[in-house]
Amino acid sequence: MVTESFPLKSGGSIPSVGLGTWQLDDEKGHDAIVYALQNGYKMIDAAYAYFNQENVAKALKDSGIPRKDIFLVDKLANTWHTAAEECLKITLRNLNVEYLDLWLMHWPSPLNHNGNDKKTPKLPDGSIDFEINWNYVDTWKSMINVQKKYPQKVKRIGVANFGIKELEKLISETGIVPEVNQVELHPALNQQKLYLYCKEKGIQLVAYSPLGSIGSPLLKNEELDSIAKSKGITLAQLILSWGVANGWPVIPRSQSPERILQNINLVDLTPDEVSLISNIGKKNSGRYVCSSWHVFSEDD
Ligand code: NDP
Repeated sequence: MVTESFPLKSGGSIPSVGLGTWQLDDEKGHDAIVYALQNGYKMIDAAYAYFNQENVAKALKDSGIPRKDIFLVDKLANTWHTAAEECLKITLRNLNVEYLDLWLMHWPSPLNHNGNDKKTPKLPDGSIDFEINWNYVDTWKSMINVQKKYPQKVKRIGVANFGIKELEKLISETGIVPEVNQVELHPALNQQKLYLYCKEKGIQLVAYSPLGSIGSPLLKNEELDSIAKSKGITLAQLILSWGVANGWPVIPRSQSPERILQNINLVDLTPDEVSLISNIGKKNSGRYVCSSWHVFSEDD
């Protein structure tokens, strides 16, 4: 039996498959979310910075699935680090929900809130306008305080795009360990060091871009494809099954009903199959998601 959920350290659990909602901002995106929820998805991964929270809200409502049956994740945007509480309030209003199951710091990168948070803020010389008197530990302290103030609105807090050094700093300076670290994770970026560190601390890794995102080279890999064919599943199903077999939830995104169904129908893999897929991934290793506001260190 494929694992349906993973336990979280503060209690409860996180579903092993969720639907990513980046770019699901039109009617087709809305329909994809409704379809996923009506066909067994129990987790939706949203974010303020996807600027589609109203579309997600409409889909949550139109699905007819009770709120309590959905594990809803949203993220504090880079431009709102100094105003976490306000960002949470706007998020809950946009999503038209009373609470989030998990609220993540989207990136360890506080940017200046210059009144237009839809664009990455820039200085006159074209460089990124970081909040120079603020860092992600300050943000984490704000998120901790917001959760203490509104435990009924924020069930759990966590981070995304954090490496080991950043997690160390966060934990040593606040004593509060994030529930989750959501990072890019797929066979070409298997994050073993980070996984082992997080496991020791009780932090659940969650795989974003688990298929390798748009135009993924993994989805064209012939070696992986032949393993998938031999098992009678698609390449995407193989890659996602590898993630869950390794011990982390996956949040693939698709607009296609057929693929949405594929992505939640995963299979068990043997330890030999898992390591074969990891070895193929290593030969093709790469990080596919880049940002101008964060540089990952070698160790990440
Ligand atoms: P994914 O790895 O989920 O890949 C999505 C791409 O794969 C789309 O082009 C999709 O196309 C295609 N696809 C999906 N299913 C299949 C399938 N079964 N067969 C073939 N192709 C398929 O990429 P994302 O970058 O969207 O990552 C997933 C989610 O992770 C995001 O939506 C977001 O919620 C989250 N995320 C979080 C980040 C963070 O900083 N915390 C950063 C990036 C992502 P199609 O729609 O045509 O099926």
